[in-house]
Formats: sequence, structure tokens, C-alpha cells
Amino acid sequence: MTNIEMMPEDVRAARGLTGWSRDQLAKASGVGVSTIADFENGTRNPIAANREAIRRAFERVNVAFTPTGPAIYAVVSLYLMTADDGAELLFRYRQDQAQAVQEIVGAFGTIDGDFVALTSDQLVTPTLLATLDGLVARHGGTVPQLNKLRQKICRVPEGSYFLLMPSAPASTEDRLKLENYLHALNHPDEAPAEGKPDDLFGPLLKRYDMTNPRTDRKNLVGVGQPRTCRFCRGTSTGASFKKAAHVIPTALGNDHLKSAEECDACNAYFGQETEPSLIAMLDIQRVFLGTQGRGKNHGRPKLKFGNDTLMHDGQKVVLHAHAVSRPDDDTFEVTLGRGARLVPMSVYRALVKMVLSVVDHQHLPDLKKTIEWVRYGKHVDQTLPSVAMATIDLPPNPSAQITIYTRRETHSRLPHVIGEFRLGCYVFAFAVPFSARDQWDLVGFFDDADFRNTFQHYVAATQWAQRDLSSTTPVSPAPRIRIIKR
Ligand SMILES: [Zn+2]
Repeated sequence: MTNIEMMPEDVRAARGLTGWSRDQLAKASGVGVSTIADFENGTRNPIAANREAIRRAFERVNVAFTPTGPAIYAVVSLYLMTADDGAELLFRYRQDQAQAVQEIVGAFGTIDGDFVALTSDQLVTPTLLATLDGLVARHGGTVPQLNKLRQKICRVPEGSYFLLMPSAPASTEDRLKLENYLHALNHPDEAPAEGKPDDLFGPLLKRYDMTNPRTDRKNLVGVGQPRTCRFCRGTSTGASFKKAAHVIPTALGNDHLKSAEECDACNAYFGQETEPSLIAMLDIQRVFLGTQGRGKNHGRPKLKFGNDTLMHDGQKVVLHAHAVSRPDDDTFEVTLGRGARLVPMSVYRALVKMVLSVVDHQHLPDLKKTIEWVRYGKHVDQTLPSVAMATIDLPPNPSAQITIYTRRETHSRLPHVIGEFRLGCYVFAFAVPFSARDQWDLVGFFDDADFRNTFQHYVAATQWAQRDLSSTTPVSPAPRIRIIKR
């Protein structure tokens, strides 16, 4: 339905349905009032992006453009949760399609007159799959979301459960509970987990909101019009947004998570000033994980450390080194030459930049000083907290991940924003400095009793090394590697 050409009279009629003035439509769509007026009067045809923005503004209030003019749709929302995915599906339909939607929803519950009672625990059975095939054959053409629903359900193995709910879980806490519930349904043989992760995450989720943008598939942060850069506040009229801005540098193996809110100038600055240091800091880890980036050697790391080389050939790590010793039969120790130059504070700034790229907009006004530090290198003379690093047991997933914790309430000691960056089994946990919502410099926050009580999974996980990354003097570390036969 979204491909129906939108005519000037349709826009007027759609405004009639919603009761919007031109001003209100301008506000809802981000398109100028004069552009809308010119379009409605037939004096000017807006550019495609503006037409699309107008269309989307109407769709958000359930008005769609059909061959017979704009019409108000009803919407049924379904939230589907499988063991490894969660998706909200919106079924928009006109009055004359209501029967079809009721039939679709009825496949997952019982229909009694106008009422449909949805069953949340859904078992994938041959019968359910056959019912879905029938529904797609009958209604797939008019209710396109149905195809998506079938696709998602087909990915769940037969005999496994998924959950179907009227809406997405309201909080991270609820989501974790549902994930546990689903896990228990699918693994009835396992003893119910000992309160995990509720016990471990309980205090954390009371005090912090957790954001974990997906990095395993295409994910674009921010698509608002006009585009505004989070870092320099440049807009699409003053700044250019031609390049894809990766939230996590590609050399760290992520090509999926991108930002529409980082202009080309800021992107180039980070690419030159801060990201190379973070990448250099992770050189050894990148080789051992075989992190897939772009460029030479099929995008895999091939690095020089003085006269020594360390690379991943797609299957194994290949090391050419001079200083090799063998303290016992099962151990090799290698001291490599000096590697790429890095600036410790730039590593910290690059870590915080990833957080700023994805943190919810509501926090940005409090992080003005942080943005100045990350983007313009201001405030470098101020004291910084240490960055905690650890190696943890994780499934072998070389994809980089970022998690952001934002404090819900005022607190005298707990940092406003905590970032966590993972590459394979390596994890960094750090405080985002300079927030207006922190009343102190956060030095030593990681050892605070309040912090350790709240972030219990950190304490439980492993041993942490805390590193001072406040120096602006470049260094070229000479790494030592110990290889132990198992
Ligand atoms: Zn910018």
C-alpha cells in the first residue's frame, strides 16, 4: 500500500482525517510549512525524502494512502519472542480487512465473537506451520507483515516454544524475565537457574536502564529528519552525511551498527584521532580472534611489531618472532618488537565515543562536556577514572558489542553512564566522564561498595585489571605473549 502515489488532494484529505493543520503536519513530518502548502496547491512537487516524511507522519497515526484515497487503519500489534530474537509486528488494516487480521490472530488463540484471546506460550508444530502457510496463501498479498511473521516462526525449530504477546516488554527487567521463562519452557530438563540473572541483575536493573544495540545485523541509529550530528550539532543543511558512520570501527569487526547522526567531518576526525589508538590497543586480541575487518590480507589483521610479524591467515595465527623462550616443555614465551603507536587517552575517548553514538537522546544534554572532550579534545587536563579490563568466558562470538547503562535516579556515588565494550572474550568496563549528573570525578568508582553491589555481574565474572588511560603521550607497547599447550 505504501507505493500508492500521494496526490496533493490526498494530503489535504489525510489532514482532514487527522484534524491536522498544515503547521501540525509540518511538525509531525519535519517538512517545512511552505513546502506542504506548495504541494497541496499543486505549485511544487516536494523532493522524494519530503514526500516520504509526510507519508510516514500520517502512517504513524494510522492513516495510509490507498488507490481510493487516504484511509484510517486499525492496528494490531504483536510481539514475538524467540530464543534468539524479539520483534514487534504491526498489522495495519482497513475495516474491510478486519476479518483477515482476526483470522491471523485467531491462529494463535481463540476467537469468541469480536474478542480474540491470545495465548502467549506457542509451540511450533506441523499443524501450526500448515495453518500459517494457509494464512499466507490467502492473505499474504494484502497483509505483508504476515510473511514476516511466518519467516520468524519458521526459524524456530519444530517442537520448540516461542512467546507471542500484545506488545514488547516495557523494561529490560521484564525482557530478562520473559527470556528466562522462554528458556525454561524450551529446557524443561534443566533445573531452574538459581535466581539468575534476576539475583545478579536485580539491583542493577532497579538503578540503571540497559541498552544493548544489536550488532549481529544491520542496525541504524537515528533516522530523524533533518539529520543532526550528535557531536558537532551540524545539520543536513550545514554538514554532510555522505559516509556511513560506523559506531564500532570496522577494524574491530563490526559492519552492522551504524549511525545516521554522525557527520562526515566528525567521522573523519574520529577515524584519524581516536579510533586508531583503540584498534592498536586491541591488536593482539584482533589477531587471536581473527577479527574480520576490511582491506589487505582479506580484511584480517596482519601486523608488524618491529621486525616481528603476527597475522591470522583465516584458519590460524601465524607468528614470526625473534625473542622466543621456552621456560618448560608446554610453554612458549614471545616478546614482540614495538607495535603501532597509541595514545592512552585516545583509547578512552574512542570507547566513550561509541557510547555517545548510541546512548538515548535524553542523556545528551548532560553529556555536553563529554562530547567536547571526545570530539574536540577539550578538558584533557582533568582527572579521569581508570578503565577496567578483563578476559571472560564467553561463547566464541568475535562480533564486537557495546552495552550502555544509564542511571535512573540521582545518586551521590554511582556514575550516570557506564559503558561496556566487548570484543570476543575481552571486555572493557568504563565510566563516561564529565556528565553534568555526576557530582564527583568518578576516580575509583569501580571499587566503591555501591558500584560493586549494583554491578554484581562484574564482581562475579572475573579478575579485573584497572588501567589509567589519562596520558596524552603516545606509546608503542612491545607485547609479551605466553602460549601454553593444552
Ligand atoms: Zn559532526
